[in-house]
Amino acid sequence: MSKKVLVMAEIRDGNLRNVSFEALSAAQKIAEGGEIIAALLGNGTSQFVSSLGQYGADKVYTVQDERLNQYTPDAYIQAFTQIVKEANPDVIFMGHTSIGKDLAPGIASKLGLGLISDVTDVVLEGREIIFTRPIYAGKAFQKKKVSVGTIFATIRPNNIDVEEVDPQKSVEEIAFPADIKDLRTIVKEVVRRAVRGVDLSEAKIIVSGGRGVKNADGFNMLQELADVLGAAVGASRGACDAEYCDYSMQIGQTGKVVTPDLYIACGISGAIQHLAGMSNSKFIVAINKDPEAPIFQVADYGIVGDLFEVVPLLTEEFKKALVTC
Ligand code: FAD
Repeated sequence: MSKKVLVMAEIRDGNLRNVSFEALSAAQKIAEGGEIIAALLGNGTSQFVSSLGQYGADKVYTVQDERLNQYTPDAYIQAFTQIVKEANPDVIFMGHTSIGKDLAPGIASKLGLGLISDVTDVVLEGREIIFTRPIYAGKAFQKKKVSVGTIFATIRPNNIDVEEVDPQKSVEEIAFPADIKDLRTIVKEVVRRAVRGVDLSEAKIIVSGGRGVKNADGFNMLQELADVLGAAVGASRGACDAEYCDYSMQIGQTGKVVTPDLYIACGISGAIQHLAGMSNSKFIVAINKDPEAPIFQVADYGIVGDLFEVVPLLTEEFKKALVTC
């Protein structure tokens, strides 16, 4: 039976986040020919309508209002609830991003819906949609389905393959006036710590450092490798606690959860709390001078050695290899 799917498209720093396309691809997998609607909140978002069509949206509902240009739970819950009521979908998807993690429970509670969060795979089995999500800090996976009512799930970034449907696909934009009132919070400005290079949560390659990196200068060495690979730099909490780098770089149970194609762990022991944030990476390379370090248990490739010798060698070799490519 065809299903109408509503996908919230997320904009950050003036660009559509890749997880929006991943959520549209998840929608394609389960819609069975049903209508796919994308939602865009904020002023000036019409420029993204055609890209959403390319990746599967049949219609795009927009709510253009300056109070939606920056995320606030108050305004977004009201605007997105308005869209859900207009669209009356069978299924709702949004990214399991910092916005999605905050917004989805608010929407679910307002509309009385169940929510399956942090989904890493979505498949159609017979007539049922089966969601996979990690549990116990990534040590096991749980399969879930919703038997009654609207199905609502947040999709973990970098897990669902993006499929372009049709570069020429026509897509209809339907604009709604914002029905937003009694806002308790207004964001006047967002000041972000300057991050060099690639955004950690969307990076395909991450070079990550732990306490073994010894100091902030050691992180400059990791940044050089990252620059050659077009990668982002992450860190263990050990490295953040030691003030070698900023907490915004922390990966793990109390930091960011990442699933890049390649994760290079340098001088990280592999504590369970760190593994919770990175063990689902597609390929893990660990560099550690201790052959017994637990990180080697999750690594696809391990280099037992001093990272201060290994990392510069890798940087040089990758430079040469990438020049000849
Ligand atoms: P260490 O455990 O000290 O490991 C350093 C490693 O570097 C060692 O394996 C050593 O052999 C290696 N090394 C040293 N010198 C070199 C060298 N020259 N070359 C190569 N290797 C070298 N941690 C996180 O990362 N993320 C979290 O989100 C997180 N959340 C937590 C939440 C709670 C509630 C608690 C209690 C802890 C949390 N932790 C978290 C901390 C976690 O338990 C570990 O303490 C931390 O991950 C250790 O960081 P590390 O691997 O960098 O340091």
